Amino acid sequence: MATDPYWLAEPHEPIPHSELDGAPDVAVVGGGITGTSAALTLAEAGMRVRLYEARVIAGGASGRNGGFALRGGAAPYPVTAEAVGRERAAHLWSWTEEELGRLAECAGDAFRPTGSLRLAADEEERTELEAEYETLRADGFAVEWREELAAPLVGRYPGAIFHPPDGVLQPARLVRRLAERAASAGVEILEHTRLGSVEEADADAVVVATDGYPSGLLGELEGLIVPTRGQVIATEPLAELHFETPHYGRHGFDYWHQRRDGRVVAGGFRDVSLDSEFTADEETTPVVQAALEAFVESLFGRPLRVDYRWAGIFGMVFDFLPVVGPVPGVGGAWIAGGYSGHGNVLGFACGRLVARAILGERDPLLDLFEPSRLLVH
Ligand SMILES: Cc1cc2nc3c(=O)[nH]c(=O)nc-3n(C[C@H](O)[C@H](O)[C@H](O)COP(=O)(O)OP(=O)(O)OC[C@H]3O[C@@H](n4cnc5c(N)ncnc54)[C@H](O)[C@@H]3O)c2cc1C
Repeated sequence: MATDPYWLAEPHEPIPHSELDGAPDVAVVGGGITGTSAALTLAEAGMRVRLYEARVIAGGASGRNGGFALRGGAAPYPVTAEAVGRERAAHLWSWTEEELGRLAECAGDAFRPTGSLRLAADEEERTELEAEYETLRADGFAVEWREELAAPLVGRYPGAIFHPPDGVLQPARLVRRLAERAASAGVEILEHTRLGSVEEADADAVVVATDGYPSGLLGELEGLIVPTRGQVIATEPLAELHFETPHYGRHGFDYWHQRRDGRVVAGGFRDVSLDSEFTADEETTPVVQAALEAFVESLFGRPLRVDYRWAGIFGMVFDFLPVVGPVPGVGGAWIAGGYSGHGNVLGFACGRLVARAILGERDPLLDLFEPSRLLVH
């Protein structure tokens, strides 16, 4: 049984090496979706960039997640509209849709446009989803209501929203692809190299792109993006293919889909042991793993062999909005992270956003994502 992520097991070419002569203009810390996206954007704008990754490219959450590529923020649309105003929520959603389109272009066969299915697990959740459906529709976003679900889910969920723009990723393949493009654009990628301090980078700007992994580089912000563990399994390949579309229910606590070869990738169930999952310890636990196994067994009506089990860490933020901008009190340091478990599209988008901010472009979204709000909360 592999305890490494299924995504990282895929054979791949080594990332090409570019070497910088002397100090970089910008150092990027973290070789996930955010760091590679930021590094690529900066290098394409002519910056000299060095990327530090303590482990390997996609070795963090970006190679350990569920593979869902979803538009929007981490909180549901009406909740975000209530918190930040309808106009700003609509702008945020449209922006993620544009970025999802751009991500799909970069991803090639690492992305499949499937849509996604957000399920109501009970009548209360159905009421919430109905409100979400109505608000999205009223604001002009593509969305469909599903009253009845196909077998084997008939009668199991009282309604669902289908989100047409979404899709599914082989996330590690995507991030390696971005890293290859970044290296070709001149980014020096240093794997197995932990940056110990901002000064050590000897750069005009340092982008900390470590999401939930404690980097030690964030001064007063350290720990305010709360490390949170997610666990996943991938089963044996199955002959029957019911779930090519990403499915997620119970407010995102359960999520699953099938790969083309029939393997079920299922994650979540943090809520069976909520307190113990607020940790940066990247270990699987028997209680969550047992819940995941029981869940896939209930979906298919028989026990399934589990071929891969793994855990990863994501960064949770109190208001479920990303954190992008200068790091308060740490001169030259910038942050992009804190996606609250929703970082595939947001990470790609916020990597580009922080890069453009360093290049002097002031996007209004930066007001919404301002890092110093974490200090006054
Ligand atoms: C189990 C799980 C399931 C998820 N499912 C989904 C999903 O289906 N859809 C979705 O949108 N999101 C999902 N997420 C969230 C998403 O994976 C993350 O938000 C996203 O990958 C974060 O990307 P990142 O590049 O910002 O950080 P990461 O990919 O975590 O990369 C950060 C990197 O920084 C490195 N690092 C840390 N400190 C240093 C240092 N000092 N020097 C050098 N390197 C350092 C780490 O080694 C790590 O590789 C999930 C997360 C988990 C854990």
